[in-house]
Amino acid sequence: MATTPRDFYQVLGLSRTASADEIKKAYRRLARQYHPDLHSGSKKAEMEKKFKELNEAHEVLSDPDKRQKYDQYGAQWEQAEAFEKARQQAGAGAQGFRWEQAGRGGGDFNNEAFSDIFENLFSGRGRAGGGRGFAVPGEDLETEVELTLREVLTGVTKRVSLREPVPCPTCQGSGTLRGQTCPTCYGSGSTTELKTIEVKIPAGVQEGTRVRVGGKGQPGSSGGKRGDLYLHVTIKHDPIFRRQGSDIHVTLPVYPWEAVLGAEVMAPTLAEPVKVKVPAGSKAEGKLRLKDKGLPSAGGGYGDLFLNLQIVVPPTVTEDERGLFQRLTKGTHPDPRAELLRQTRMR
Ligand SMILES: [Zn+2]
Repeated sequence: MATTPRDFYQVLGLSRTASADEIKKAYRRLARQYHPDLHSGSKKAEMEKKFKELNEAHEVLSDPDKRQKYDQYGAQWEQAEAFEKARQQAGAGAQGFRWEQAGRGGGDFNNEAFSDIFENLFSGRGRAGGGRGFAVPGEDLETEVELTLREVLTGVTKRVSLREPVPCPTCQGSGTLRGQTCPTCYGSGSTTELKTIEVKIPAGVQEGTRVRVGGKGQPGSSGGKRGDLYLHVTIKHDPIFRRQGSDIHVTLPVYPWEAVLGAEVMAPTLAEPVKVKVPAGSKAEGKLRLKDKGLPSAGGGYGDLFLNLQIVVPPTVTEDERGLFQRLTKGTHPDPRAELLRQTRMR
């Protein structure tokens, strides 16, 4: 057996004496709030469920005939209707008969037992009420933005697309079209529209930060204020600048003679390239640290930019240069593999 659905009046936040107009208004307000297109992330699934429940409630309560049956029998009104029909067909006053029409188990029923079931199931319902006429704040919205490292460094104005409720263009927001439920908005009087807003993101946001943009969520109703927009920030992977917290690492190619003799070279940073001094006698995998050239850090200040030296050989050499390298082979350097060979032999 499925779980008992929520009372339809409760879903709409209305009392059982609500007028057709109140039902319509409550439905339209909540449909705007719950519309799944307006939500993302974990909220979306929750809102889809609420939206479905709302539509079920509205479908029944907006139809006077269905509503009357619902008021009489509650959530089982459809089975009750089937029962009524079957009873009429079997002839009034029948003592007992098989009830299988609803397809949910069926069984032998007689009138008395049947009404008992409904009384037991639905005593205590109708606790609904409230909600109507009160200012209801709009829902908060959440969306993701992906920033480049450069945008993190400088701050950026991003265009963010959001779905916003707007009056339905088919029925001009009335919910009905030529006396029928509007096929575009299913009677809610509103549809959603993609809207682009500009959001200023300050410099130095961290990966995973939620940036709150006040008053950019869904509109409230009955004078309620707008919800807020939350931007979930992720930082785009950069193939050149590798991020480690607020520090940045980048590989800097240098020629062997630059490492040996020292050199002034241009090095990239997140902003403009800068001139750096590769000190004489730099190690092959040495790191140069450019202080405060990293990203803004959570605790204030900036991280560092590390230049990881990578010795590269020139792609081509002239005859003259070849001669220079040959002179190097006659040097008295220790075998650079000696330590490696010693360590592997010891195992
Ligand atoms: Zn419409």
